[in-house]
Amino acid sequence: MKSASTLRRPAELAEHDLVAREALPALEAVAARYAIAITPAVAEMIDPSDPNDPIARQYVPSAEELKSEPVERADPIGDNAHSPVEGIVHRYPDRVLLKLVHVCAVYCRFCFRREMVGPGKETSLSEKAYTKAIDYIRTHREVWEVILTGGDPLMLSARRLKEIVDDLAAIPHVKIIRFHTRVPVADPVRVTDEVAEALRHRDVTTWVALHTNHPRELTPAAREACARIIDKGIPMVSQSVLLRGVNDNAQTLTALMRAFVECRIKPYYLHHGDLAPGTSHLRTSLEEGEALMRQLRGHVSGLCQPDYVLDIPGGYGKIPVGPVYLSQQFDGERMQPRRLVDYCGGVHSYPPA
Ligand code: SF4
Repeated sequence: MKSASTLRRPAELAEHDLVAREALPALEAVAARYAIAITPAVAEMIDPSDPNDPIARQYVPSAEELKSEPVERADPIGDNAHSPVEGIVHRYPDRVLLKLVHVCAVYCRFCFRREMVGPGKETSLSEKAYTKAIDYIRTHREVWEVILTGGDPLMLSARRLKEIVDDLAAIPHVKIIRFHTRVPVADPVRVTDEVAEALRHRDVTTWVALHTNHPRELTPAAREACARIIDKGIPMVSQSVLLRGVNDNAQTLTALMRAFVECRIKPYYLHHGDLAPGTSHLRTSLEEGEALMRQLRGHVSGLCQPDYVLDIPGGYGKIPVGPVYLSQQFDGERMQPRRLVDYCGGVHSYPPA
């Protein structure tokens, strides 16, 4: 059954054949803890007859979310430890996160901010807190880039987005504004010409990072929404999360990265799954991620290569964790020639300087 509005309650999911009625008691327990939202555009992508549908796995809640592992944590990447004022995360010297809203068009079952986003979680920034956040950016001259994330900043109206872009563009040392969003995929009609226009400003460069994990999410409507942004002169990059049962095979990752490039979106990050509560069924091992990246390297155009990265739990930042192709050993007296591994696994050497 097609849905005309966003599905938010387990009973609605059952009415639309997205979950079994027998699962409802467990899913009510999931819903009491984590937000649920499946837009009509996402519901349309799901094949209800496929119990392993990779789109459903990202958005439809599961009783497995009730199992938390001891290693999992409410704030897996340590946002709170780096938040000098409400709404700002200042983890790296030259950039800050500006978290404006706590709501999203959809709620991803693996979200690393799942304890913070959704109705009834943290509130969106009040006008007073927003002013303090902008003041913080203004007084920190080292901030070159402001990354709007949240929640999904494209949930805001075109008018509000324009006000925010104007405020940031008025700060001379802010040169880059980056929006992280899932809206072009989850609710493409929201990305109107007015919204796309609101993102750009002549005094600052805007980038948009699209969060998408499976090639089927890049529907014709999603591609058109991205084109509306890019056609305004705004470059786009991708970010994806490596997810068990969604994209943890070379064929799907290849198709996803190629689809991004076909849409003029440069693959940027492939995130290793964070230690968010109740997400162990969706996480892969680092070894699996490394093996997959090896399968992409060399076999797929360089344009299609994302950085495979891990956010170190606790807020220590992001590091690349892709396979190592270059190594060198010290034999006790001198450095040995560097050892190089080609994309087929062949081993070569390169002389020390
Ligand atoms: S859109 Fe982003 S912030 Fe919102 S639930 Fe999904 S991963 Fe989390």
